[in-house]
Amino acid sequence: MSFVNKIKKIWKNFFGNNRETAHCHINLKISHDQIDKDALTILRRLARHGYQACLVGGAVRDLLLGRQPKDFDIATNARPRQIKRLFRNCRLIGRRFRLAHLYFKDKIIEVSTFRSTPKKQSDDHHCSDDGMILRDNVYGTIEEDAWRRDFTINALYYDITKSSIIDFCGGLDDLKANLIRTIGDPFLRCREDPVRILRVIRFAAKLNMTIEETAEKAVLQLSCLLKDVPPSRLFHEFMKFFSCGYALNAFKLLCKYNVLKEILPLTQKALDDHNQPVKHFIEKALKNTDERLTNNDTISAAFLFAFLLWHPLLDYKKKLERQENMKAVPAFHQACHDVLKQQIQHMVITKHLRFMIIETWSLQLQ
Ligand code: ATP
Ligand code: MG
Repeated sequence: MSFVNKIKKIWKNFFGNNRETAHCHINLKISHDQIDKDALTILRRLARHGYQACLVGGAVRDLLLGRQPKDFDIATNARPRQIKRLFRNCRLIGRRFRLAHLYFKDKIIEVSTFRSTPKKQSDDHHCSDDGMILRDNVYGTIEEDAWRRDFTINALYYDITKSSIIDFCGGLDDLKANLIRTIGDPFLRCREDPVRILRVIRFAAKLNMTIEETAEKAVLQLSCLLKDVPPSRLFHEFMKFFSCGYALNAFKLLCKYNVLKEILPLTQKALDDHNQPVKHFIEKALKNTDERLTNNDTISAAFLFAFLLWHPLLDYKKKLERQENMKAVPAFHQACHDVLKQQIQHMVITKHLRFMIIETWSLQLQ
């Protein structure tokens, strides 16, 4: 019996079709072969020293779906300093809330201490330099940690010592129903952190899941809040968005939910002005991006921006030639500058990356 069918059977036996699954421990052995061996070492060492430690988030979700997780995050009741004492390869990062990063040859594994959402709302708007919301820098229980996560399917924990899935928010039911559901009121959660709007679209595209109805309404109504996300954080999520391996699907959903204009307004304008040729061009490039990721090739951020902003660049260049009587070459250079200047108002694009984008454009022009 396949892994997914095994899970379906366990669900059926335990719950039938009812949604009363919150707060449950389900005995379900995930083969350790599927779990990163360094993640297993960390989990075992934490457990040996008396701490509760679980795999959490995307890794558990993807393992249950029979997919290969991208990374293996760990959550524990050990405090950052206690984690550091146990692992020589540990570095603590973050100023207000500290996370442990464990360094290995080919990866970093993030180990976070269970956190809770403070009751006091006065802390709501504290952000770090890169825009992370910092109101949740209070340690908590595993259950509190679950409720502050974004979607039910991302709030599942796997305890290797008991071979059990811990589900406080009904994530197993939603996985089964192919549904992305926000934990709590979607309007509130998207206002609290508008990046979740991009995240829900990314997961819908990547996992081929349906966005729950109210969450869908929140995405449609609140996408303008993405303007308020600090540019460095938006860049970070933007890169995750387009390198999820399902960028073509994700882009189609961005257009469907009218979110593109908030993160790439010039691309949206080019689509409005020319439609089919621009759409065709971008979709072809995104398909290529996805294929590269499927083949374990790398993708370049410069290439990504270069094709997403290619038509805006041509439009700017034409405009300068027509309205300012500029020659092709200076118009091209001026257009490069103007397009990037506009885009960096929305997200950080480092000087080096801007240089690489212009290089890519120059090659394309030749
Ligand atoms: P992927 O496979 O794409 O990495 P993921 O679910 O692991 O998916 P991450 O961005 O790596 O996504 O985040 C890890 C976990 O942290 C999520 O599963 C979720 O539980 C939590 N999380 C991340 N970002 C947020 C957010 N903005 N709000 C609430 N919880 C979040
Ligand atoms: Mg992840």
